[in-house]
Amino acid sequence: MKCILVTGGAGYIGSHTAVELTNAGYDVVIADNLYNSEISAVEGVRKITGKEVAFEQVDCLDKNAMEKLFKKYQFSAVIHFAALKAVGESVEKPLDYYRNNLESLINVLSLMKENRVPNFVFSSSATVYGQPEELPATETTPRQKATSPYGNTKQICEDIIEDTVNATNGTMSALALRYFNPIGAHPSALIGELPKGIPNNLMPYITQTAAGIRKCLSIFGNDYDTPDGTAIRDYIDVTDLAKAHVAAMVRLIDKQNKTPYEVFNIGTGRPFSVLELVEIFEKTTGVKVNYRITGRRTGDIEKIWADTSLANRELGWKAEKSIEETLLSAWMWEKHLRGL
Ligand code: NAD
Ligand code: UDP
Repeated sequence: MKCILVTGGAGYIGSHTAVELTNAGYDVVIADNLYNSEISAVEGVRKITGKEVAFEQVDCLDKNAMEKLFKKYQFSAVIHFAALKAVGESVEKPLDYYRNNLESLINVLSLMKENRVPNFVFSSSATVYGQPEELPATETTPRQKATSPYGNTKQICEDIIEDTVNATNGTMSALALRYFNPIGAHPSALIGELPKGIPNNLMPYITQTAAGIRKCLSIFGNDYDTPDGTAIRDYIDVTDLAKAHVAAMVRLIDKQNKTPYEVFNIGTGRPFSVLELVEIFEKTTGVKVNYRITGRRTGDIEKIWADTSLANRELGWKAEKSIEETLLSAWMWEKHLRGL
């Protein structure tokens, strides 16, 4: 059985991916410092899969602890989710973001090299595209100067990975998956997004407003050049996203990759505005979301969605969930969290 190290595996996307990898027959070792997650997510993964998925509380910055981890297990691959991800916070604390996101990556890649672990999957982001001139964004759409230190860490990490695998004479391969906007929760409602404090992202803000925890959702701007004036994104179900990692793993382990470093857009190709998302949420759940229109949020882009044809063709993967199914799963998760 192939053993996969999942750094940041107690987090939102990592925990869903741990489920799908385990269900696909991989042995998973979750390594997380629990900075932005809780052990309950690991328990959720174990409950859903019925397997004693391994958990190691480790900080990827702790080189000694990471060395021990790589000696304890024989990994066939690493999926590196561990990162700080709050855009606004990254503007206030850039050094924390550069240190955590870059150093953790460098530690992991160095240990992979030392221990001859050949396969790597990285959590990148659509943020690397900024506001593309042409839509939908394809993998060859030029990256633009990042608007936040967080976004910059994703660009620099992509470059570090590309340079590293290109220097290994084919002994290491990597896929960078550029996620669009992950939302929703596992259909069991046993794992989902666990934002600390006031959510920055739209989906948890919607569900918390629907649950009465927040009084009112602020919709940031209705004067964009879009049909209803609100900004447009490509919202992808977190379970669909998790399955893309299984497809990525199969590609690497079966050596189907065409070059040592490959990049894939992981989205749905389906654009929705903020207002549309709120309206579909209300219609699907039957719950009203109190909202008001406020000014634009600094740094926000107007519209982006993915061209996913490369991932569809090369990974044999496609997002499958309907937006209604996804929004309902987000609401079931919020209700589970609040005991509603
Ligand atoms: P998350 O915060 O829920 O998960 C990240 C996990 O990494 C957390 O459990 C955290 O405790 C852990 N972690 C952070 N630094 C660590 C370190 N030094 N050592 C060990 N563990 C550490 O975030 P998520 O939404 O699941 O995101 C996962 C990855 O996907 C991140 O790299 C993020 O940048 C990327 N991404 C997320 C989104 C999104 O909207 N959620 C979009 C694009 C890309
Ligand atoms: N958004 C909003 N109100 C919120 C949070 C987000 O109107 O409380 C909007 C935001 O301006 C963007 C979209 O929802 O147009 C998605 O925002 P999110 O922060 O979830 O993702 P990202 O900005 O990274 O695409």
